[in-house]
Amino acid sequence: MPALPNLNIVPFISVENMMDLVLNVGVENFLTELSAYIEADFRRWEAFDKVPRIASHSQEGVIELMPTSDGTLYGFKYVNGHPKNTRTGRQTVTAFGVLSDVDSGYPLLISEMTILTALRTAATSAVAAKYLAPEGADCMAIIGNGAQSEFQAIAFKALVGIKKLRLYDIDPHATERCAKNLSGMGFEIIRCQSSQEAVEGAHVITTATADKQNATILTDNMVGPGVHINAVGGDCPGKTELHKDILLRSDIFVEYPPQTRVEGEIQQMPADYPVTELWQVISGLTTGRTGNTQVTLFDSVGFATEDFSALRYIRDKLAGTGLYENLDLLADPDEPRDLFGMLLRREVSRKATMRNSIPNG
Ligand code: NAD
Repeated sequence: MPALPNLNIVPFISVENMMDLVLNVGVENFLTELSAYIEADFRRWEAFDKVPRIASHSQEGVIELMPTSDGTLYGFKYVNGHPKNTRTGRQTVTAFGVLSDVDSGYPLLISEMTILTALRTAATSAVAAKYLAPEGADCMAIIGNGAQSEFQAIAFKALVGIKKLRLYDIDPHATERCAKNLSGMGFEIIRCQSSQEAVEGAHVITTATADKQNATILTDNMVGPGVHINAVGGDCPGKTELHKDILLRSDIFVEYPPQTRVEGEIQQMPADYPVTELWQVISGLTTGRTGNTQVTLFDSVGFATEDFSALRYIRDKLAGTGLYENLDLLADPDEPRDLFGMLLRREVSRKATMRNSIPNG
């Protein structure tokens, strides 16, 4: 791994630097490279410390901490989900994260993760679809055309071969913006007036709506045989997108069952309802899609290893780019145990600076 300078200085990747990094690499290329990191970490699933994310719920949303470690590196993400935020000009989801060295416990980098979360969510969905979507899938419905939507479209183009998009959002401005942002990127884009219209002829259905309730974005009659559903928006207790009858007809694939059973679409099902863990499909321990008429469902909620993979990727990409600021985050006394002495020396130097700044006479 390329070394970054000075261990006591922590590289910080701001939103602006993250945007430049993504643009320098190219969005599609970034998503492809990132999905390789995510896939590689799913393949070594058993190496990770895993725990359902720690959620603090309120009336309007949730704030979550998502930690994991592979024994060499430790990472966590702070993320919120507040569907009403967009009404006051704020994001539904914002995030930042830290990657640390397990041996010393020292942070190796701290990064914005709002953009990175959209990228890693899309990359994870596309990795799942690589194993689960029907062969030759080239048409995807996206229901919910908010912040995540363009990233989903581009990741599915890069990894699955999606060329046609059928867009629907209850807010037509969101659909218009999504279509405009994606124009000139090689998609055929159809703006739809309902979820029902959006799913017509789609091989993949992505739901990425935000509403803090058990919504029914898709009903059973809307899902034809052979379709792959990429359900992204149901990711909290009491927040789902699919009618239960769809779950009864689908083979369901999840990230980490103890978290998904509480937060995902399968919160509607009994606690022992059979699901397949995505890592087992990726590792070749079990099969994903087994036939042309099978309905597959990736019940995505977002898991800590995906953020870990994203931070690991960013760290590898960062060296030599200069696209970070050096954060004075870690106290570094001359003698490690003399933390208080460092404070005293600071006081002496501050007094000297003040004396020197008083004009003579
Ligand atoms: P956003 O608020 O930017 O966009 C959500 C869109 O859904 C809005 O445009 C809204 O008008 C639309 N919508 C709401 N109800 C709808 C309905 N009934 N039919 C059609 N459209 C509807 O949010 P976002 O950042 O794009 O996130 C979307 C969802 O994905 C959120 O619920 C978020 O929590 C979730 N999410 C999941 C993961 C994951 O890993 N699974 C990661 C990030 C975000």
